[in-house]
Amino acid sequence: MIPHSKPSINIREINALNSVLRSGLIAEGSLTAKFERQLADFVGVRFATAVNSGTSGLHLALLALKIKQGDEVIIPSYVCTAVLNAVNYTGATVKIVDIDPDSFNICPIAVKEALTKKTKAIIVPHMFGLAADLKELLEFGVPVIEDCAMAVGATYNGQKLGSFGAISVFSFYATKMLTTAEGGMILANNKKIAAFVRDLKDYDNKPDYRLRFNYKMNDLSAAIGLEQLKKIPDFISRRQRIARMYNKSLVDSGLVLPLGGNIKEHVYFRYAIRLRKSANILIAKLQEAGIEAKKPVFRPLHQYLRLKSADFPSTNEVFKSTVSLPIYPELSSKNAKYIISKTLKALAD
Ligand SMILES: *Cc1c(COP(=O)(O)O)cnc(C)c1O
Repeated sequence: MIPHSKPSINIREINALNSVLRSGLIAEGSLTAKFERQLADFVGVRFATAVNSGTSGLHLALLALKIKQGDEVIIPSYVCTAVLNAVNYTGATVKIVDIDPDSFNICPIAVKEALTKKTKAIIVPHMFGLAADLKELLEFGVPVIEDCAMAVGATYNGQKLGSFGAISVFSFYATKMLTTAEGGMILANNKKIAAFVRDLKDYDNKPDYRLRFNYKMNDLSAAIGLEQLKKIPDFISRRQRIARMYNKSLVDSGLVLPLGGNIKEHVYFRYAIRLRKSANILIAKLQEAGIEAKKPVFRPLHQYLRLKSADFPSTNEVFKSTVSLPIYPELSSKNAKYIISKTLKALAD
């Protein structure tokens, strides 16, 4: 079976973990600090705070913007529930909006319609590794939290994602662009925001009491992350190479291929194609051929919340018809060709 996604772990991560384990210093320490510094430098942002997941990163990012009950936060429907959970942790009201079907990203026109005086933030996930319409979104003057869980190393007009919003959040879950098994990072240029999230992620040794969390990263995770960060340029170019193979071979197949006018800006966390028919048929046929393809979003948020379906035409359409083909640095060209041939065959049937 060719898996849908797979982390790239080799002897470097194993050796790094080994030495941390032997040192006995496995809690948050110098390696976490080093990982924070290196990710901040890589993205081009002043401050970074490591946390134990992307979800906790989003939670603290919202708290840093002083978001509370009575405030409104705008998020897209076509994203995992982690984003919805983070807003709900704060007690704020979530406003779910439709997407742009071509980019899979939050639709600026839908955002504009959802804005009210109570809107305190927009969470902008860069879906599948492609930048959202940051220019339009930033013009609303509402703080943008960039969700870069799928977009480590991706760019917008040549500048790294994660350096545009008031705050940006990364995830290093097992199958993300870069992994620490579980983990996350909060980036900001604002010193106060950075100090606030750093304070809140750790409850211990504080002179005062307030509600804090245990959202710390540990040095085992950071040791993996540091090795992964060295490899990220290679990870990205390998993903882009596979995407080019897919693009070239599938261009005449009647599918809607991923947007990527400038392929260098897209990191292809997912290679998501839109079909004319239901996604499930292709997924089943590929499964029979030993290929694990998936819907790239399990279920849109408006469906979970039973919001009026008519308000989400693009999300509905994309959810029905979009298939994510396997793509990851360790996917061989031979397997990519096999996936192409089975996809073309399934579409021709
Ligand atoms: C994975 C992901 C998250 C959640 O990150 P975790 O580390 O799993 O908590 C949030 N947003 C997006 C867009 C993601 O892809």
